[in-house]
Amino acid sequence: MAPQETQSSVDGVPHVMFIPSAGMGHLLPFFRVIAALYGHGGVEVSVVTVLPTVSAAEADHFTELFAKFPGIRRVDFHLLPFDAAAEFPGHDPFLLRWEALRRSAHLLGPLVAGVSAVVTDVTLASHVIPICNEVHVPCHVLFVSCATMLSLVAYFPVHLDNNSKKKKAATGSVGDVDIPRVRRIAESWLPQPLLDLEKLFTKQFIDNGREITKADGFLVNTFDALEPAALAALRDGMVVPGFPPVYAIGPLKSHTCNKSSDEKNKPAAAGSPVAWLDEQPAKSVVYVAFGNRNAVSHEQIREIAAGLDSSGCRFLWVLKTTTVDRDDAAELADVLGAGFLDRVHGRGLVTKAWVDQEALLKHPAVGLFLSHSGWNSVTEAAAAGVPLLAWPRGGDHRVNATVVVSGGVGEWMEHWSWDGEDRLVMGAEIGEKVKEVMADAAVRARAARVGEEAAKAVAEGGTSYRNMQEFIGKLKTA
Ligand code: UDP
Ligand code: UDP
Repeated sequence: MAPQETQSSVDGVPHVMFIPSAGMGHLLPFFRVIAALYGHGGVEVSVVTVLPTVSAAEADHFTELFAKFPGIRRVDFHLLPFDAAAEFPGHDPFLLRWEALRRSAHLLGPLVAGVSAVVTDVTLASHVIPICNEVHVPCHVLFVSCATMLSLVAYFPVHLDNNSKKKKAATGSVGDVDIPRVRRIAESWLPQPLLDLEKLFTKQFIDNGREITKADGFLVNTFDALEPAALAALRDGMVVPGFPPVYAIGPLKSHTCNKSSDEKNKPAAAGSPVAWLDEQPAKSVVYVAFGNRNAVSHEQIREIAAGLDSSGCRFLWVLKTTTVDRDDAAELADVLGAGFLDRVHGRGLVTKAWVDQEALLKHPAVGLFLSHSGWNSVTEAAAAGVPLLAWPRGGDHRVNATVVVSGGVGEWMEHWSWDGEDRLVMGAEIGEKVKEVMADAAVRARAARVGEEAAKAVAEGGTSYRNMQEFIGKLKTA
C-alpha cells in the first residue's frame, strides 16, 4: 500500500477524513453526510476509498460522488492480501470486505495522523478508534442503523458479561437482551449470527461494541421524535455509563435530492419506473424492495409475486436475486414464473435495475412500501411519510422493525419468516395483508405525521438540524 500524503487543517480550516466500510446500506448514509458537510463549507473533506468495490452499485456511487464534488479528496487505500475464500469459505462478501479493511486498518495510521477528525463506520470501529487515539485525532462513528440498534451494539458485550457471571453462558444461549431504559430485544429478533459467538460477524460485533465507548461521538441517521427513549438512554449513560455524545441528524437525504430546476423539469425517461409511476393514480402503488443485498429465495419470490397479483393493487417491485449485483444474471421471467409479467402488465412493474429509491418513495403515486426494513429504507419511508409494511429478512431488520411500530412508520409482520427459517410466507397471506394495509387510513395518517416530524427535524431550527450544527461546531473548535 502506498499511503498518500494528507494535510491537516489549512489556515484553520478543519480537515475531516471519512473512513467508510462496504455495502450500499453503509455507503449511502456516508455519502449523504459527506455531501452535507462539504456543502456546509468551511471544512476540508477526504474519503478513504478502496477499489475495486464489492458491488457495481458502490463503484457507480463513488464515481458519482467525486464527479459531483471535485473538491472532495479521494484517498486511495490498498488492502493487504487476504485469501478470504480460503479462510472463510461461503461467507458474505461484504462481511469479508469489512474483515479485509479491519486487517489493513493499521496502515491507515499515517493518513489519519495529519487530519483534524475522522468519521468511520461501526464495522471498523475497534480498529480505527485506537489508531486515532494513538495520534490524538478525534474519531466519530457514523452509525448507519437506528439508535435502538446502537444501544444493542453497545449493550451486547455487557449482556454477555452478565450472562457469564450468571453462568448462563454454559447453556450456550444468548437469551433476550434487556437494554436498560430502551427495550427488551427478544433473542429471535437479534441478527442471526449473534446466536453463535464463534461466528466472524459476532466477533467483529462484540469487539466493535466494546470499543465504541471510546469514540468521540456518534452521528446517527435517526431523529429525536422517532426514537426518544433510545436516544435519551444512550445520552444519559443508562445503556453504558459515560457513553459518548450522540447526534441524531436524520433522516439523511441524498445530494441528488437537491436537483436544479432544469433537472427537476426534465421528463422521466420513457419506460423508467418514474415514468410508469407518473401514469398511476395517487397513493395507488405498493413499492416493493428488500434492499441492495438481500437475495430472497426463488420459492419466496414466487409467493410474493402471487401475493401482489392477488392483492389487486398496482405495484412497483425492485427485485434483487443475488447478494452482489454483479452476479445477478437471472432472467425476470424465469424467476417470476411463466406468464406472471404478462398477467400483471400495466398494473405492475418489476425491475432488477438500480433505482433512486429515495425519490421513488416521494412520488405521489406510492401508497405503501413493502420492505425488509433495512434502516435506510425505513428512514426514507419516514421522510416521505409513506407507510411501511416491515418484513425483516436478517441482520438488524427486526430491531429496526420495532422502531417502525413504535415510531408510527408502519406495521411489522412479526410472524413472517426470515432468512434461515425454513418456512415460506404464502402468497395468499401476503396479498391479504397488502390489501388491508393499503386500505387502512389510520396507518396512512400515522405515517404522514411521521413525515411531518421528519421534515421538522431537518428544517432550520429542528432537532437534527441543530445536532448537525453542534457537530460541525465541534469540528471547527477541535
Ligand atoms: N437502494 C436504492 N436503489 C436500489 C436498491 C437500494 O436506492 O435499487 C438504496 C435504498 O434506498 C437504501 C439503500 O440502498 O438507501 C439500502 O439500504 P437499506 O438499509 O435499506 O438496506 P440494505 O441494502 O443495507 O439491506
Ligand atoms: N453492525 C455493528 N457492528 C458490527 C457489524 C455490524 O454494529 O461489527 C451493525 C450494522 O451497522 C448493522 C447491523 O449490525 O446495523 C446488522 O449488520 P448486517 O450484517 O445486517 O449489515 P448491513 O445490513 O448493515 O449491511
